[in-house]
Formats: sequence, structure tokens, C-alpha cells
Amino acid sequence: MTTAIEPLAATAAERFHGERRQVLDPARADVLAEIPDATAADVDAAVAAARAAFERGEWRGTEAYERGTVLERAAARIRDHAEELARLDCANVGKPITQARGDVEGAALYLESAGRVVATLASEIVEDTDRQLTLVLRDPVGVVATIIPWNYPAALAAASISGPLAAGNSVVMKPSPETPLSALRIVELISDFFPAGTLQLVTGGADVGRALVRHDGVDRIGFTGSTRAGVEIMAGAAPSFKRVGLELGGKSPTVVFADAPLEPAIASALARITANQGENCAAGSRLLVERSIRDEFLERLAEAARAAVVGDPADEDTAFGPMITSAHRDRVLEYVAGARRESSLIAEGEVPGDGRLASGFFVPVSIWESRPDHRIWREEVFGPVLAVADFSGEREAVELANDTRYGLMAHVWSGDGARAVRVARQIRAGIVRVNRGFEPAFGPWGGYKASGFGRNFGRWGIEANSELKQVCLDLTPAA
Ligand code: NAD
Repeated sequence: MTTAIEPLAATAAERFHGERRQVLDPARADVLAEIPDATAADVDAAVAAARAAFERGEWRGTEAYERGTVLERAAARIRDHAEELARLDCANVGKPITQARGDVEGAALYLESAGRVVATLASEIVEDTDRQLTLVLRDPVGVVATIIPWNYPAALAAASISGPLAAGNSVVMKPSPETPLSALRIVELISDFFPAGTLQLVTGGADVGRALVRHDGVDRIGFTGSTRAGVEIMAGAAPSFKRVGLELGGKSPTVVFADAPLEPAIASALARITANQGENCAAGSRLLVERSIRDEFLERLAEAARAAVVGDPADEDTAFGPMITSAHRDRVLEYVAGARRESSLIAEGEVPGDGRLASGFFVPVSIWESRPDHRIWREEVFGPVLAVADFSGEREAVELANDTRYGLMAHVWSGDGARAVRVARQIRAGIVRVNRGFEPAFGPWGGYKASGFGRNFGRWGIEANSELKQVCLDLTPAA
């Protein structure tokens, strides 16, 4: 255990009283820490503290402008500890350190953008006559429980709490049991900025998540995770009319037309399946290439894939690291075995030769000529496995892109701007990037179809965590 992790584990052991779970470094299968799960009583205590803070009303009663300033200060605190947080996610997720640094900056941006925008979200006047004045006020929902996955622990910790806090709610966050470290540290760093009890964290797995979904003291669930769990959460939240936001899985297409700028399109197609080891809700796991450039594009992509450095996540030039657990590695390898039967191999990388990483949960990147009835085309693999098909013309491109139950993200590459926009409009996904990689964009984040509903980030994340109230005043003079 490194010194940065020891105090986190000690604090968790004081606060949570359930069974201890090992938290691993997936590049070496080393134990980084043992963190106890929250018990039912620990969950009750966290929800009660959040509820009491909400009822006291200090945070929701604070001017929006002032709440925004607090969130900006929280973002600055995260930036002050950026390298430490990035090292925690690098070690615990196995993500390359260069990407972990980007994630932490993303965490700060989430809080900062919510802080900046909340001050500008004035109540609206929708009727203004001599006889009446109708206002639309925004109320916080109450206590929001956020449940997040293991693939972007720091970024999603901040993303999940930024909208609810900006809107004036109290929050109970539950990180993934595989990756609680950076979320524990973020809450430790920023919770003192908020009135006592407003920001809570509980550790544990699906059962702790279920306890929050059932809990009478919780008013909304902000969930990020698998589509399977999203279905269960929606059903579990129904009897108590809890509000739900669901950020779920994806099977996102990268569509490359023959007139695309090839160099950046190839780099992006590869990055979209290797970034975060392909363990990415928005992974570009289906590649659609126009037939006339298919051979050249795939040859160059294959060459780049074989050259991508898989290895120690702490090395500055590593492109991708190991899978999160041995169980998840085995699941990804099952998909690869299925692809060997159904699809044709275009290119395959290697696992690291470094003996110190021999116990790590690595799988090589692989690229497969595929068809829409193949498993790797239809299902979210959540690893560096890319399914490729070719097309001719816009109509076929759109049909193939939309032939999925998911609708989170799409990339469109074309030298013809009007066509790229036409195609972007027809793709059924919440986020479409045109001639652009994964660099952040200040827009709503969320999906269509089985990728969930509700939007995160900025104004949209605040609105999703607010109730709207109509207040109508009669202005007719008293008789
Ligand atoms: P998961 O659904 O297994 O777990 C996510 C979180 O939910 C964890 O904290 C887990 O403990 C908890 N959980 C699991 N089942 C639950 C239940 N029935 N009730 C309450 N809580 C429950 O997902 P994962 O394996 O941790 O993460 C990978 C998934 O997350 C992928 O499908 C990925 O696409 C998705 N994801 C989506 C986004 C997005 O923005 N759309 C972002 C990141 C990850």
C-alpha cells in the first residue's frame, strides 16, 4: 500500500463497518488497500445526515451565485491535488497516467462549469400581464444518491455530484467497490466547503446501491453504469416515485466517409477503442468505413494498432493498460474467442512482455471484419475489441450506425461539412462528434435508447436535479 492510500483506508475503516474488500492494482494484481463496505446502518446514517442538512436548508437557501463560487473553489481544490488524484486512478483502474490526468481536469471542469452556470439560471417569468404574473421557480429535489462505475472514478465522482449540488440538493455518493479511492479522496478534499452533512459518501457494491434505491430518505438516483443495472434501478425506484437519471452503456459507431481527413480519422478510430482500455461507455466499438477507402484505411489502422503501446499505466507513453479485474478480462477474452469463430481478424496487438506485469489482467487490442449479426457488433464488450464493417453512401451509413439498441455517442468523419451534419442529425445518439476526437465539449452528456436518459453537465445537469414550480400571482386590484 502506498502512503497516499493508507490514510484513506484508515478513514474508511473508521466510518464503515461491513466486510472488507480488496482494492487492486489490475496491472500487477497487487492489493492497494482493503476498504470496508458500508452496512445498512452506515447507509441510514449517511442518508439521515444528508436529509438533516437538506431540511436545515443552509445550502439550498444559499444564493445560487454563492453556491457557484463554492463549486468553483471545490474545482480549484481538485486541481491543487490533480497529480495525487490522477495517480490513484492510474494505479486503481490501470488507466494510463496521461489519461488519468485528463480525467482529473475533467472532474474539476464538471464542478466549475456547474458553478459558473448556476448563477445565471434565474427563475423565469412566463406570464406578465396587468392581471397576472406567473413565475417558474427551481427547487432542489432533496437528497440525491449518485451511484457510479469503476471506469472513470474521479471524473464521474465529480460529474455525478456537480449538478445535484449546484441545484441545492444534498448528495450521498456511492463509488464502485473496485475503485473507491479517488472518490474517497475527493469527498475528503471538498466536503468542508459545504454545510455539514450536505455531501456524503458510502462504500460498497450492488447491495449498497440497492439500499439507496429503496431508501425512503432518498429522492433521486443519479446512476452511471451498465444497462442491466439501469433496468433494475428504474424498477426499484418506481414504487417510491424516485426521480432517476440513467447514464448507461453504448455501442458507438465511428463513421468514416471516403472524403474524410484520413490521418486524424485513423488516430481517432484507434483511440476510441484503446482509450481507457476500451472500458469506456462511449468507446467507438463499431467502425464503419466507406467501401472505396476500406483497404487503405484498415491497413493503416492495423499498423497503428500493432504499434500502440500496451503496458505499465504509470509510463508516460502507454496507450492502454489492463482490464479492471480478472473476471472482466475473462469476459472480454470470451468475446474475442467468439469473434474468432464469427468474424475475420484484421489485426491483433500484444500483451506486455514485461515480467513485472505478468499477473496483470491484460488483453491485446483486436480489430475484426464483422457483420451486424455478430456478437461483437451487437453487444458492449467493454474492452479493446473493434468490430468493422464497410458501407457505401449516406443511407447505408446511417442504417448501420443506428442498427443498435444503444445511442450514446457517434463520430462522423467527412470532408463534406453539409453531409456530415445531415448524417449527424439522423444518428440516434445523444452525442455526435464531427471531424473531432474525444476532446471535451461543453454540451449535455447522455444517451438515447438503452444508453439511458437524463443529461449531465452544466445547465442540463442542474435542471435534471431540480423540480420546477409554477407560482402564479393574481394582480387584479381588490374590489
Ligand atoms: P455496473 O452497473 O455493474 O455498476 C455501476 C455501479 O452501480 C457500481 O457502483 C455498482 O456497485 C452499482 N450497482 C450495480 N448493480 C446495482 C443495482 N442493481 N442497484 C444499485 N446499484 C447497483 O457497471 P460497471 O461494470 O461498474 O461499469 C461499466 C458500465 O458503466 C458500462 O456498461 C458502461 O457503458 C457504463 N458507463 C456509462 C457511462 C455514461 O456516461 N453513459 C459512463 C461510464 C460507464
